Amino acid sequence: MAAEYTLNVLLSDPNLSAELKYIAEKVKNSQRITFDEGVLLYEKGELAFVGTLANYIREKRHGDNTYFNRNFHIEPTNLCVYDCKFCSYSRLLKQRSEGWEYSMEEMLDIVKKYDGQPVTEVHIVGGVLPQYDAPFYAELFRKIHIHRPELHVKALTPVEYHYIFKKAKISYTEGMRMMKEAGLDSIPGGGAEIFHPEIREQISKDKCTADQWLDIHEEWHKLGMRSNATMLYGHIEEFWHRVDHMERLRQLQDRTGGFQTFIPLKFRNQDNQMSHVPESTVTEDLRNYAIARIYLDNFDHIKAYWAMISRNTAQLALNFGVDDIDGTLDDTTKIYSMAGAEEQKPGMSTRELVELIKQVGRKPIERDTLYNVVTDYSDFEFADDEKPKFYKLPIIS
Ligand code: SF4
Repeated sequence: MAAEYTLNVLLSDPNLSAELKYIAEKVKNSQRITFDEGVLLYEKGELAFVGTLANYIREKRHGDNTYFNRNFHIEPTNLCVYDCKFCSYSRLLKQRSEGWEYSMEEMLDIVKKYDGQPVTEVHIVGGVLPQYDAPFYAELFRKIHIHRPELHVKALTPVEYHYIFKKAKISYTEGMRMMKEAGLDSIPGGGAEIFHPEIREQISKDKCTADQWLDIHEEWHKLGMRSNATMLYGHIEEFWHRVDHMERLRQLQDRTGGFQTFIPLKFRNQDNQMSHVPESTVTEDLRNYAIARIYLDNFDHIKAYWAMISRNTAQLALNFGVDDIDGTLDDTTKIYSMAGAEEQKPGMSTRELVELIKQVGRKPIERDTLYNVVTDYSDFEFADDEKPKFYKLPIIS
């Protein structure tokens, strides 16, 4: 394995400090790193160092396999009762004219638009409003499954669940059971932001707390179901807050094993109340993916949203621990573009995603939401594949 060779070269470097060498040896021996070692990696681990370790873990787990899926989003509303300082998406109720509120029928019409198309997942997430309550979502999930039984419904975060269960006066246990019975298949990773109260209270103090977020996922996992986790990084938090965040996830994962994927989300500063806070650099983004891959030894996958970080950075991230670059999206989400992401019309055909992955020497694998292989595109030839063309340059004398 090339990644192992690179790791051995790194370990034989006489200039490598004893503390970093100790961490590298732990990674080589599949041993878990500690909280303090996680902080040390953020403070002293240069990009090449953490990248070598993360790529070693990535290739040991997945080889060159790089996953994506074919999905579309439904964002029921961009109005929200909360006021997270980093949110570029929500229009508070007083700015209602700039908002949208889809009815149940409008959402089902979006689902029907994909009839006959080979999408495997609908991802539903948006703002929080009183009319979107527990019975509403239960009915929506039920109706989606009646229309298209095999479509995987990945929907809502603990931010919504905490709100709608409280309104319905039901416990998390009852609420999650109700959602499962209605047809919810999995929970996406949003709403986690930064768990530590020192930061959470400054950036999103009125929505669910870290413990509530973790409790809802734990209840869901207890039902034998799967979910994802995110971390919004690169704003006012310090490195140890990131490690604290991942530590809480790692502990829950040790108990339940229900998380599939960890998704670091880059803070974007366009059109929000934190526009004065500079964004992280690409180097820091890649270091963050890599350290997440090293720290979260009990998570199978690390995902980068290509629509959030751009296609080029997504390609780079595949060498820094990332093995999943999300889905085709088909321009159905506004969450990234409204926050100032490079991709203002996020949509890629399957062929474009496959090429993006192949260009950097990895194996494109279309997966379903639960990481079952749908199609291995390694040797796949698209019907209209063109042979490379070479043109003669004009001779100018
Ligand atoms: S981040 Fe989510 S909960 Fe917070 S204001 Fe935006 S839409 Fe609402």
